[in-house]
Amino acid sequence: MRVVVIGGGVIGAASAWRLALRGIDVILLEQFGTGHTRGASHGSSRIFRHAYDNDVYTELAVHAGRLWDELDAASGAEPVLTRTGAVDHGPSAVIAARAASLARVGRPFDIVAPAAAERRWPGMRFDTSVLHNPDAGRLHADRAVASLLARAQENGADVLHDNPVHDIKLLSDGVEVVTRSGAHRADAVVSAAGAWTPELASGLPDIALPELRTTQEQPAHFAPIDESLTWPSFVHHPGGALNEADHAGGIYGLSSEHGIKVGEHATGPEVIPSSRSFVADPAGEERLRAYASRWLPGVDSGSAASVTCLYTCSPDHNFVVDRRGRVTIAAGFSGHGFKFAPAVGEYVTDLVTGVSTVPVGGLSTLFGLGGRVR
Ligand SMILES: Cc1cc2nc3c(=O)[nH]c(=O)nc-3n(C[C@H](O)[C@H](O)[C@H](O)COP(=O)(O)OP(=O)(O)OC[C@H]3O[C@@H](n4cnc5c(N)ncnc54)[C@H](O)[C@@H]3O)c2cc1C
Repeated sequence: MRVVVIGGGVIGAASAWRLALRGIDVILLEQFGTGHTRGASHGSSRIFRHAYDNDVYTELAVHAGRLWDELDAASGAEPVLTRTGAVDHGPSAVIAARAASLARVGRPFDIVAPAAAERRWPGMRFDTSVLHNPDAGRLHADRAVASLLARAQENGADVLHDNPVHDIKLLSDGVEVVTRSGAHRADAVVSAAGAWTPELASGLPDIALPELRTTQEQPAHFAPIDESLTWPSFVHHPGGALNEADHAGGIYGLSSEHGIKVGEHATGPEVIPSSRSFVADPAGEERLRAYASRWLPGVDSGSAASVTCLYTCSPDHNFVVDRRGRVTIAAGFSGHGFKFAPAVGEYVTDLVTGVSTVPVGGLSTLFGLGGRVR
């Protein structure tokens, strides 16, 4: 079987790896160069955590953790997943729902009182009990994408950068994927095109995508004031003392080689991916400085250095991963897809081959095209 994967972000790269491991002849086509910064998967850090309020995501994160470990074992190089632990804090109902899911799925966690949490993580302030997930941590984003592509190639995949796909033609006996330099015939195609998915998939019959909204988001890196402090990855949920008017989607953060990265979740302006400005909004950067000054005594709050990146959000923020005939779509990762990438890649492979291996139930209901809000 021959499959063309469109998109060399983390989802396309992971899909190529898992497809190639299953013995499939894979070609991955990416429109930009290696390590480009125009999509959603670049940079040095992403949070890896299990604490969701929906067991499907919690279980999928557990499975993804196994596959990140498998990737790191296969590469033998510096690991992409580092288990620093992660904390959630904010309204008690939000914390309780995540703790309950971790308990049901059988992952370790502990609840830490605010004063004890400040002693343990002195770079942070807490006003509510804290959910600590010790086997969570962070992923090195650029190294992860590079390692996934390298492992895909080791298993026989062809990876072609600077190859924009202009058209997908459905034939009676296969598909033809058309690029500037020629056409690739295959048995099936996987579209993992991030923010470009609607323009790529718009002409395809039977693919009724939910509305996918693309926004430019802008986390900032802050200089730590003491290099010896340890930092868990963190999510500060909105409500309570975190002013919802200022940070409607909550705040996330983690340590990285560029400093302590802090971002608002899903507050950026809607953009067209091919013509966005890449310029961070000064008001957003100021909100992150104000947050750091109040909640992160371990950073120099004046030192914000913003970066920009794309979110592609479905209406319910659930992923869109489904197959119609010879076309599989993997899109709408809604600002939280990186951690799951190898498990999504395996699910994509299950959909393409019709052989189910991902040990998580409920994926077709949560991610399927049928019955979605449009
Ligand atoms: C600021 C920020 C912080 C985040 N933090 C986290 C986090 O902490 N934890 C987490 O789990 N997730 C996080 N995410 C979300 C995560 O990074 C994304 O969900 C994930 O990277 C999406 O990957 P993707 O492959 O779908 O998209 P992309 O990385 O955008 O990849 C799509 C690729 O398809 C290519 N492409 C598009 N059209 C074509 C075409 N016609 N021909 C060829 N190639 C094409 C594009 O060039 C692009 O490289 C964050 C995202 C952002 C922006």
